[in-house]
Amino acid sequence: MIQLYIPLNFLGVIYREIKQGLADLEKMFVLLEREREVADKPDAQPLQLRDVAVRFEQVDFAYEPARTILHDVSFQIPAGKKVAVVGPSGSGKSTLARLLYRFYDVGAGRITIDGQEISAVTQASLRQAIGIVPQDTVLFNDTIAYNIAYGRPGASREEVEAAARAAHIHDFIVSLPKCYDTAVGERGLKLSGGEKQRVAIARTLLKNPPILIFDEATSALDSRNERAIQAELEAAAQNKTVLVVAHRLSTVVDAHEILVLEGGRIIERGNHAALLALQGRYAQMWRLQQQGGGSADQ
Ligand code: ADP
Ligand code: MG
Repeated sequence: MIQLYIPLNFLGVIYREIKQGLADLEKMFVLLEREREVADKPDAQPLQLRDVAVRFEQVDFAYEPARTILHDVSFQIPAGKKVAVVGPSGSGKSTLARLLYRFYDVGAGRITIDGQEISAVTQASLRQAIGIVPQDTVLFNDTIAYNIAYGRPGASREEVEAAARAAHIHDFIVSLPKCYDTAVGERGLKLSGGEKQRVAIARTLLKNPPILIFDEATSALDSRNERAIQAELEAAAQNKTVLVVAHRLSTVVDAHEILVLEGGRIIERGNHAALLALQGRYAQMWRLQQQGGGSADQ
């Protein structure tokens, strides 16, 4: 028995190694697939920023050919304004955010920044112009400092710390054995959803780009942290061109335009007052949230 046990255990180790290797390979394929999908065109030029205005023109999108997720979506974010997207879970809000960052190319229609189609400019220049706090942050297998500074390579440790403080993650980081040099990600220290979200917020605050995308950026935080960080995000968003997928409707009251998305279509649009006066879906969501303090996603 003992003789048998050792080799089997040894095989188990090998099996786990292989499995981990395969998982990595799988991820690489996913990345390659995505890269292939959004490759730079041979004549791609760097994005030239002027006013920094964003337009979606009759955008359709499907992850799989058989199932269209976004239908005929058109809106614009004028320079320095904030447009908010609200709607039930699965309505396509995150997809909209991902398309602006060009994780995927649109199926039909176009997305432009200052008149330049985002599929025609270099990805490097596009992503330099945009900061995104996604709904689910995936960290790099590297140190916390690297993960924050990724927003602005070459940032000093002081700048990284200032961003971490603003995202209310500094105290947590210095409580770790190796502080900012602690390895995180799948093979390092596993962070909670809220901690990862704060790392993503710190990264974006440090990057300080002209276009911001917040996809339920504070949804994983407890309400005390959420309020404090919301104030930091609002300060950072001043005079920026902002697309925000709202978790709480209280954060969209001041938006230039609010889009109500359902089943991948814009079913209502307007500012807060106009949408309340419409007494439709938005007004209903607003009432529900005033009563229950729930989120816009429910
Ligand atoms: P929301 O952010 O409003 O909750 P999403 O944009 O995440 O909605 O998703 C919209 C729809 O697209 C959902 O039906 C979801 O299942 C589908 N979807 C999202 N991501 C993918 C993906 N990577 N592949 C296939 N379908 C997806
Ligand atoms: Mg979403």
